[in-house]
Amino acid sequence: MITEHEEQLVATAHEEQVVAEVPKGLYIGGQWVRPPGGPSLSVADPATGRSLAEVADAEPREALRALDAAVAAQESFAGMRPRDRGEILRRSYELIIERQDDLALLMTLEMGKPLLEARAEVAYAAEFFRWFAEEAVRVDGGYAAAPASDARLLVMRQPVGPCLLVTPWNFPMAMGTRKIGPAVAAGCTMVVKPAEQTPLSTLVLADLMTEAGLPPGVLNIITTSDPGPVVSALLADGRLRKLSFTGSTEVGTDLLSQAARHVLRVSMELGGNAPFLVFADADLDEAVEGAVIAKMRNAGQACTSANRFLVHERVAPAFTDRLARRMNDLVVGRGTDPRVQVGPLIDRAAQAKVSGLVADAAHRGATVRRAEGPVPTEGTFYPPTLVTGIPSQARVHHEEIFGPVAAVATFEDEEEAVRRANDTSHGLVAYAYTGDLRRALRISERLESGMVGLNTGLVSDPAAPFGGVKASGIGREGGRIGILEYLETKYVAIGSL
Ligand code: NAP
Repeated sequence: MITEHEEQLVATAHEEQVVAEVPKGLYIGGQWVRPPGGPSLSVADPATGRSLAEVADAEPREALRALDAAVAAQESFAGMRPRDRGEILRRSYELIIERQDDLALLMTLEMGKPLLEARAEVAYAAEFFRWFAEEAVRVDGGYAAAPASDARLLVMRQPVGPCLLVTPWNFPMAMGTRKIGPAVAAGCTMVVKPAEQTPLSTLVLADLMTEAGLPPGVLNIITTSDPGPVVSALLADGRLRKLSFTGSTEVGTDLLSQAARHVLRVSMELGGNAPFLVFADADLDEAVEGAVIAKMRNAGQACTSANRFLVHERVAPAFTDRLARRMNDLVVGRGTDPRVQVGPLIDRAAQAKVSGLVADAAHRGATVRRAEGPVPTEGTFYPPTLVTGIPSQARVHHEEIFGPVAAVATFEDEEEAVRRANDTSHGLVAYAYTGDLRRALRISERLESGMVGLNTGLVSDPAAPFGGVKASGIGREGGRIGILEYLETKYVAIGSL
């Protein structure tokens, strides 16, 4: 009979082994590079604050060596047959799925999300490879007779060239594969810079994709504690042809201006401030379940998180009570415990920001209801919290909360709901619950967002074009058009035959 203590020892040993197996160097030109005695950056478990691993800490000169490797590999990789590129992605998909449990554990350890969510993210991340394995062989062009001459018009698609892919910590694997997948499918080489808090879920992809047949130099990975100079050095190098960035609007706008210098192709997946509308004709049980998903997934640390609940005044009391009950029942804790539904926030700064937003709302007269369940004292946890009676100036309405805090306000009619939903500089996703099909389609057209969730709290799908309007971004990832972000269109004019 195994005691609880022995079980814990086995679990800890397994956690250590999963972390130990991840290479900790820079991946450049198909080699792991780590100068002995060179600088390193520490990766910590946000649930405990304890250090998990030390990974290499690159400086600009190493980033430029990674770009050298990407540039050197570009021409031959562009010449590889699309089917062969697709097969590499397909095999990478299979390898990720084979290792789903360990990859999920690794993600939970460095990022904090509950194991169930980490498993779902690993599957979602792998799906981008499967999807783009299928898209690699569907790149086409055009051939037409010119309308007013004897000329012929030939249109072809070619890889953009070496790309810089910068990713955030909140979906540490999927935000990478959502860029790496289409880049490989299109025939682009790349330098990937993952977030410094969660580099392991990206580093682990290098050996896996090499095992799947990816040639050296196609995928290069740079980890650094000083992203500003490292990314700037790459953007200043005229050989780079594209920047794809997922992260905050603040950093994204700065990088956009740097990318202007060499007129780079850009894809920008930036912050959100999603409205979640609940009309009086909605199925309230479904709306509450959708609200829990849209708000509490990843402890509210998603660009697609519902940030402002706007509920018709007639159903607001019932909706709020049911949501409060659901939030109260959620289990908060270290994500490695299978019972846990809400993990920690990523760090102390995030915890302080969320506390500050709630304090600001309370100060302005809002009512704050914190879930009553236990919350660990070590790590960076925040209890599920419901805020109602919020004055319009409160910061929770205008800033991305990025935490497990549901801010609920009311509206009187559809006109007011749409006006308030659109009253933000962001436009990533909007959610709406209604039983009226005509209203659903009408407001879908009027909502200023790149995506709309109709009677659902989850929009992400590798087969769908993900992205925002306004300050939420430029371009789309996934779907049929996702590969176009990595392709140039070339027109060849053909004289009369
Ligand atoms: P962030 O601070 O903007 O960081 C994103 C990436 O940029 C990280 O790799 C970061 O490196 C790097 N970075 C930070 N400062 C930089 C600088 N001065 N120059 C160059 N690179 C720099 O964002 P985050 O806090 O990690 O992520 C949360 C944000 O991402 C939220 O706003 C969220 O809405 C957004 N997001 C958007 C999407 C979408 O698809 N639209 C998806 C997920 C997240 P370090 O880690 O070293 O700081």
